[in-house]
Amino acid sequence: MDVSSSRVKVDCTTCGPQLLRPSALHVTIVGADHRVAFFCPRCTEEISKPIDQVASEFLVDRLGVHYEIVDVPAEFLEVKGGPPISPDDVMDFAMAIRGCNLRYELDVLRSSTTAAFDA
Ligand SMILES: [Zn+2]
Repeated sequence: MDVSSSRVKVDCTTCGPQLLRPSALHVTIVGADHRVAFFCPRCTEEISKPIDQVASEFLVDRLGVHYEIVDVPAEFLEVKGGPPISPDDVMDFAMAIRGCNLRYELDVLRSSTTAAFDA
């Protein structure tokens, strides 16, 4: 991305370098991720590319590019690790949930039985 006389040089993945006015750009900020999006004037394809924070601030603060801060739950931004979830994991989870329900029902049954003996 290159800026000259209120025009920003951007790269379309199909058409190559294009000069756009800042009003044709849009910055989206999601946590620490910054992206700039635009519609290529040649092929009309919407292009979205990651940019660093310095470039993002320059576009917004100096050139007045429209921006949007997307507020997402912190869990969405967590770095995911570990192996993919397998069908066995899903079955274990389902059985664990059923176990919780059975435990709850047993507790209710026990408490009602105890109450009946206490009365
Ligand atoms: Zn293009």
